[in-house]
Amino acid sequence: MPGFPERPVLLFWEMTRACPLSCAHCRASAIPQRLPGELTTEEGRTLIDRLLDFGRPPPTLVLTGGDPLERPDLFDLIDHARGRGLHVAVSPAVSERLDARTFARFREAGVSALSISLDGGRAAVHDRVHDRVRGVPGIFDRSLEVLATALREEMRVQVNSTVMAGNAAEFARLFDLVRSRGVRTWEVFFLIRTGRGSDLSELAPSEAEDVGHFLYEASRRGVLVRPVEAPFVRRILRQRQADDAYEGGPLYRSLRGELEERLGSGVGASSLSPKGTLDGDGILFVAYDGTVYPGGFLPEPLGNVRRDDPVDLYRRSELLVRIRDRALNGACGRCPYRFDCGGSRARAFAHSHDALASDPACPLTAAPAVAA
Ligand code: SF4
Repeated sequence: MPGFPERPVLLFWEMTRACPLSCAHCRASAIPQRLPGELTTEEGRTLIDRLLDFGRPPPTLVLTGGDPLERPDLFDLIDHARGRGLHVAVSPAVSERLDARTFARFREAGVSALSISLDGGRAAVHDRVHDRVRGVPGIFDRSLEVLATALREEMRVQVNSTVMAGNAAEFARLFDLVRSRGVRTWEVFFLIRTGRGSDLSELAPSEAEDVGHFLYEASRRGVLVRPVEAPFVRRILRQRQADDAYEGGPLYRSLRGELEERLGSGVGASSLSPKGTLDGDGILFVAYDGTVYPGGFLPEPLGNVRRDDPVDLYRRSELLVRIRDRALNGACGRCPYRFDCGGSRARAFAHSHDALASDPACPLTAAPAVAA
């Protein structure tokens, strides 16, 4: 049954849309300058206080952007949240500001996790994704330096990667890189065509299935693998646990072959979790101007923290209740895996403007539902 009717596990606050980078897949379509209308420091403190109204345990606060380091009050707000007993994670951009001193400040402030983006296992691929407009040279090498500094400063750091048509073939190399650097958590976002990512090509359903099975293989090699906007990987986990055979398509065979070439064929138990969140079911997102959404990739406004109670929005929104009850439309609504999975609500919306529609990345949405 669905997991999170009372409170989100993670509340994302997009503190600003300002960012020195201009990544091709940026959800926020971030720009160099801060926009008017951002929540003020005082409004940010009020938002943080309201998270306690969800009851115990309160959601983890994830400070994102844009680049949170563009806000001069970032550390004041972290102190406020930590003073209220909240866990705080930060997603900074790989900018000049992100140096050893900043990591030391994060550690001293009690930030529990940081994420760094890597979208290719080599500069040619990563820089193409991250360097589309502003011509920031060498962002791949800089990201690896930043990663090494964060690990030296004993930060808990995870790597976030976005998979799409242009870089999927790279993912065995990328996983090897992430693992060899000593990173323990790898979050893999399946592209949602929103923000600047609207111009990019997502995976075909058969390729998404192949990458899902590849992630299952990778998750048996000592790294916590967390797919994002790809809940169908939880269905794949169930299927592989019942029957480990998967012949797969050319992308899977190529990724798996490279994985075994690089890391050998010895494997352990999968680190994938059979349960997880969906937008609006364990996730809530507050935009720079206070607008509340079910998730950062699902632009269906629920209200605004300047006038609405976020607890009320989360618990009572008709859309969110339907997502949590899996009262979905189309194949996802009939699927026997819907309570484990439920499909990406953001991808459904990006394709059909219906957040309750089927997730078109899953091959089962084009085929008759199979027995669980
Ligand atoms: S049909 Fe929908 S609910 Fe079923 S596995 Fe695919 S995405 Fe998940």
